[in-house]
This record gives sequence, structure tokens and C-alpha cells, in this order.
Amino acid sequence: MKGMSLEAIAARAAQAATKAGRAVQDVTVIAVSKVQPDDRVRAVLDSGHRTFGENKVQEAQGKWPGFRADFGHVAVHLIGPLQTNKARAAMDLFDAIHTVDRPKLVHTMARLAQDMGRCPDLFIQVNTGAEPQKAGALPEETDSLIASARAADLPVRGLMCIPPVDADPAPHFAMLADMAARNGLSGLSMGMSDDFEVAIAHGATHIRVGSAIFGARTTG
Ligand SMILES: *Cc1c(COP(=O)(O)O)cnc(C)c1O
Repeated sequence: MKGMSLEAIAARAAQAATKAGRAVQDVTVIAVSKVQPDDRVRAVLDSGHRTFGENKVQEAQGKWPGFRADFGHVAVHLIGPLQTNKARAAMDLFDAIHTVDRPKLVHTMARLAQDMGRCPDLFIQVNTGAEPQKAGALPEETDSLIASARAADLPVRGLMCIPPVDADPAPHFAMLADMAARNGLSGLSMGMSDDFEVAIAHGATHIRVGSAIFGARTTG
């Protein structure tokens, strides 16, 4: 897929929001820059965009301090799995972490947040399709994971999902929206290059768009 340019994606997202009767500014476009060459990322920064997504802590550590030195504050969101031994580094670097998915990680982050005196915005990742190989809390575990994160004073802003590859994403987005509503959470991180308009129709507040902006990734 060739990239469409960020402006074109933002225009489509705005149109989808309007069509759903939602405010355009309630949908944040996270430009997923994982594995992309620096010149493509720089071009999107030059256009003025300031919200990006990465799926690996180490890769992000290698590229974002330099871009932030050149461009000032850029919000970078972690959208890939997080190992507990990288939690401190992730909490140092990222403005939001979308992949909190198990009690052990909640406990580690709670301890680190105390120690560091700060914590990024957190999203609980839900494995809406209950796929065995996929990260995310199972739907039936999600309410209690949210409750324990809140009990530990962590700033839980919303839920995140990645629907199964070949499935209709709409029921997964609807399930995530229901779970967020019943837990009083306003953030919904859902929708990628192929389905972000459907996600916005179901209430997405954060869409994670990579290849439609940057072009196809050669690896990763
Ligand atoms: C890579 C990735 C995306 C972006 O995928 P595209 O299909 O390139 O838009 C979104 N979310 C997550 C969790 C990803 O790992």
C-alpha cells in the first residue's frame, strides 16, 4: 500500500466523525511510525503532526529522543506488547501506553509510578476475539483488571483492541465500546489503516494508522 498522506487520512477521519455525529477533535490520529525510515517520519513531523505510535520500546528509544530534540514535544504512544523488565524505560519515554494487559504489569507499573512520581496515560488491551496467541486481557478478565489498576491509582484512560485479522471488526469495536461504557472509561483505541472509519463509527477516540500514512512497511 502506498501512503495517502496524513492530511488525507485526517480528512477521512474527520468525515467519519461528522457522519457519526461526533466532534472531529474527539478523534486523535496516531501515526504509527514503527519500522519506517527516518525520512518518512521526518516528513510527517514537518507537516506539523505531533502524535505517533511505536510498537517496540528499544526502537522508540533509538529514534524519539533525537526527533524530540529537533521538533520539540511529540507525543509518542506505545502500541506494542510490554515486558515488565522494560516498564520503567517505557514509562520514561512514552506519553501513553496502550498495552496494559495483565495483573503483573499493573503491579509493576503501580510501584514504578510511585517511585517516578508520574505515569503515562494507560489503556487496557482487550483480546476481544479471545485468540490464544494474542496479547490482551480476555473479555471476562477485563473488568477486574481495570478495577485493580484503578485501585493502584494508575491513570486508566480507556481500552484498546486489535480485532482478529480476517474477522469483521465491527462486533469487536462494539464489544470494546460496551466494556468501556460499563466501566466509565472514555478512551477507545481502535481502528487501523483498513478499518479506522468503522472504528470511529463505533466511538474510537484514538485510531492507530501506519501503512495508510507512511506506505507499506518492508519488515515488522
Ligand atoms: C502496526 C500497528 C498498527 C498500524 O497498522 P496499519 O495497518 O499499518 O495501519 C496499529 N496498531 C497496532 C497495535 C500495530 O502494531
